[in-house]
Amino acid sequence: MKLEIKNLSKTYANGVHALKSVNLSIGTGMFGLLGQNGAGKSTLMRTIATLQDADEGSITFGDIDVAKDPGELRKVLGYLPQEFGLYPSATAEEMLLHLADLKGIASKQERRDQVDTLLRKVNLHDKRTQRLGTYSGGMKQRFGIAQALLGDPKIVIVDEPTAGLDPTERNRFYNLLSEIGASITVILSTHIVEDVSTLCHDMAIIGDGEVLLTDDPRKVEASLRGKCWVKSIENEELERHCAEHEVIANHFHLGQMHITVVEENAPGDGFEPKEPTLEDAYFHTLALHRAGKNGK
Ligand code: ADP
Repeated sequence: MKLEIKNLSKTYANGVHALKSVNLSIGTGMFGLLGQNGAGKSTLMRTIATLQDADEGSITFGDIDVAKDPGELRKVLGYLPQEFGLYPSATAEEMLLHLADLKGIASKQERRDQVDTLLRKVNLHDKRTQRLGTYSGGMKQRFGIAQALLGDPKIVIVDEPTAGLDPTERNRFYNLLSEIGASITVILSTHIVEDVSTLCHDMAIIGDGEVLLTDDPRKVEASLRGKCWVKSIENEELERHCAEHEVIANHFHLGQMHITVVEENAPGDGFEPKEPTLEDAYFHTLALHRAGKNGK
C-alpha cells in the first residue's frame, strides 16, 4: 500500500510555516526522512499519525483518506514518537498488555500471544518482568518498537529513534527496523545521515518545511560522483578556504581537520578526489537550499 502526501501545508499559530506544499509518495519498505532540527519532520510525522491537522493538502494510505477518516488510519498505524511516556514502575509485559487492550485487541489470549511474540522479536523477552524505569535507552527504544507493532500495523512511523543510543544499541535497533521494513511501510524521521544510509531504499531531504530532494539514497550519493574533493588543512586556514571554495563540510579525523568541497572541476589547491557519501550529498543539498534562500 502506498502513502501519498499531496500539497501538504501547515502554519502554526505563531506564524512558523512548518510545512510548505509537501509532496511525497511512499511505498513498502524503509523510507528515510532526513532533515535538521526544526526542518518540519515531527510536524509531518504527527500529521500522518493523525495527531494534528494540516491547513491544506491531503494524505491517503491505500483507500484511506487520513483527514476524513483518521480512525481507519489509526487501525493500521504504529507510531513511535520522539518522546513517549512510560510508567516507570510497570514491567514491559504489563505495559504492553495494557496498551494492547487500549489498541482494541479484544481477546485476552490474543493479547498475551501478541505481547509474547513482540517481546521476543525486540529481544526483551528475558527482561519482560523488569520495571521499565530500569531500562537502558536502547531497551526503551526497542520497547517503543514493540508497542508500535501491537495490532499488526501496515504502516509504522518512527521519529528520531536512534538519538542517544550507543553504537551497539544503535546496530541492534537497525537490525530490528530493517526486519520490520521488509514487509510493511516504515517511515524513519531522523537528522542522522547514517540511519538513512544504513537502512533506507528511498528517502527525502526536508529543509525549512520543503522537500528539497527525494530519491534512492544510492542515487543521491552517486549524483556527486566526480565532483567531491577533500583536503586536510590547519584550523586557521578554514576561513580562506570557505571564501575561495564551495566548502560543504569540515570534520576532524585523528585530530586533523578535513574539508570537503563540491566542484564540477578539480579545484587544485591541494584537493584530492573523494568518493561521495550520503552525508556529502545531504550537506550539498542543504547548502544549495541556503544559497537559494540567500538569492545567490
Ligand atoms: P523537526 O521535527 O524537523 O525538528 P518540527 O516539525 O518539530 O521539526 O518543527 C518545525 C518548525 O515548527 C520549527 O520551527 C518549530 O519551532 C515549529 N513548531 C513545531 N511545533 C510547533 C508548535 N506546536 N507551535 C509552534 N511552532 C511549532
